[in-house]
Amino acid sequence: MTHPKISQVEAVPRVPVVLRGAGARPSRAEAEDAVRTLIRWAGDDPGREGLRGTPERVVRAYEEFFGGYHIDPVELLNRTFEETDGYDEMVVLKDIRLESHCEHHMVPIIGKAHVAYLPSRRVVGISKLARVVEVYARRLQIQEKMTAQIANTIDQVLQPQGVAVVIEASHQCMTSRGVRKTGVVMVTSRMLGAFREDPATRREFLSMIGNPASSGAE
Ligand SMILES: [Zn+2]
Repeated sequence: MTHPKISQVEAVPRVPVVLRGAGARPSRAEAEDAVRTLIRWAGDDPGREGLRGTPERVVRAYEEFFGGYHIDPVELLNRTFEETDGYDEMVVLKDIRLESHCEHHMVPIIGKAHVAYLPSRRVVGISKLARVVEVYARRLQIQEKMTAQIANTIDQVLQPQGVAVVIEASHQCMTSRGVRKTGVVMVTSRMLGAFREDPATRREFLSMIGNPASSGAE
């Protein structure tokens, strides 16, 4: 089996918070009916005792899984940055737990994200960096797009000397269905500014996060 390689992700526009073309949001009752339909499609009876509360629970779970559509990550960072007072060393937040859902099968993507930036004028609390990851994760995603969105948002708001985002994750749509490959971890990265242009800066970051693709590109 080949080792995963870091694939550079190109710029992807931000997902607008207000979804265009999606039409009016269905009612909660409509969403619960849709779950009943899927239960019947799976071959079970949504009326049987154990499943009676399921549509309601699934819809509530969806509010959590996909709560990221209702939060603007740019605003989130914009509210909270501070001027640096000259701090210009690399800020690294590693092993951020990541739970998302793939937009092709709507099943979990589970892994971790590593985020770094080199401040120029603005810094932000590390919890806010983790929140940006979470906001994008709580949408229907593909890993490449999510990686780019996180990096681009930090770049846009903090205007740092550079941003790096690496995501390592396994996709349940690969492990539980289709090709059924267990243990496959997909690694994606987006490097901007100093992390893209300066190999030493990139190396420092990659070694700090444990070289997730040491067998690969770098
Ligand atoms: Zn999938």
